[in-house]
Amino acid sequence: MKRSIEKDFSVPFRQRLFFTRNVFKPGNTLLADLVSEIKEGRAVKALFVLDSGVSECHPGLKDQIAEYCKVHEQTLEFKEVLLVPGGERSKNTETYVQEILKGIDQHGICRHSLVIVIGGGAVIDMAGYAAAIAHRGVRLLRIPTTVLSQNDAAVGVKNGLNAFGKKNFVGTFAVPLAIINDSEFLTTLEDRDWIAGMAEAVKVALIRDGEFFNELEALAERLRARDMEAMDRLIFRCAELHMEHIAEGGDPFESGSSRPLDFGHWAAHKLEHMTAYAIRHGEAVAIGMALDVTYSRLKGWLDKESANRILRLLEAMGFDLALPELGTDGERQLLQGITEFREHLGGKLTITLLKGIGIKEDVHEMDEDRILQAIRELRFKVTPHNT
Ligand code: NAD
Repeated sequence: MKRSIEKDFSVPFRQRLFFTRNVFKPGNTLLADLVSEIKEGRAVKALFVLDSGVSECHPGLKDQIAEYCKVHEQTLEFKEVLLVPGGERSKNTETYVQEILKGIDQHGICRHSLVIVIGGGAVIDMAGYAAAIAHRGVRLLRIPTTVLSQNDAAVGVKNGLNAFGKKNFVGTFAVPLAIINDSEFLTTLEDRDWIAGMAEAVKVALIRDGEFFNELEALAERLRARDMEAMDRLIFRCAELHMEHIAEGGDPFESGSSRPLDFGHWAAHKLEHMTAYAIRHGEAVAIGMALDVTYSRLKGWLDKESANRILRLLEAMGFDLALPELGTDGERQLLQGITEFREHLGGKLTITLLKGIGIKEDVHEMDEDRILQAIRELRFKVTPHNT
């Protein structure tokens, strides 16, 4: 006889993203107000994790954070600012996860306390993972400091570490308490990081919103010249589209095989690894998209003019779309990215391609010869827009 007990349940989630300037100025009450919403009597214990790249460019920040907590001591109980290396280094090892776990233990941070992470997407991914596994989930508040983290990495519900030579091999889905985008941080970004983050905005425009793509085209020159107003617009709409996808797309925790937000990412993840992370995630995504745009054109799905417009926009923003030098075995290794992508997703291979600007379509197989043709076009920079 077969016996079973089955119960349905659902848990509501709310993703909250706030925009401000100078979040740690004592007079800015946004953070304190948010924390007071979860306060149960006494002040909430807070452990801060800070990206070393941010700290270097904002030398007074550590003290400012401590001072902010002092001013708002009824709400925030300051514990420590843990400094961790910025960039992919923080995701390539478990070392910093262990440091954060140690901090959580030593300061008695519990599920009613907070980990507040300030940094680029890599540090946010790594600290988010540490918070998610401590006590089966300590509350996390994210303060992203790069273009890419403010418009994509931090507004999602994932965290992760790289392992076994693969991007994001380890990680969980965990909805943060809130995200605070402070545009002041963007002023100290290297040009490279300012540019790299725009790739995810082009991506989400291409798969979801042709109007936004037109807007990006119109803003391209100002964006390249580091116009903050133009960047505010890019970040706001890109984050909004990502959050709409998560909240309304029907698959927030990615159980299905379709992953449109990963457009261009199968090659990007592999390129990051193959170049030992010498290229930034956003730079790799731009090349990965150029590859899949070219593939879509070669497949006869995307017309030549649309493919040209996409490559032109990326270049106008400042991206170099030529494939990096990958060594003799490079093409075969890059193709291996497709297998790894399928393993990462689980289930059936699903790659998002384009049928037009703002019009996506999934495929379940890729033609190797056509990929190689696309790779060679990019490698030798014979992209159609300059032939
Ligand atoms: P990054 O985190 O690698 O940071 C790049 C560099 O900028 C680092 O050296 C960092 O120290 C420095 N930096 C950060 N803020 C700064 C500031 N305000 N001023 C000066 N320097 C600053 O780069 P990124 O593009 O923000 O993030 C890339 C990471 O995000 C990748 O690991 C990628 O896998 C991840 N990601 C995650 C998701 C997700 O859903 N979880 C989505 C997209 C990307």
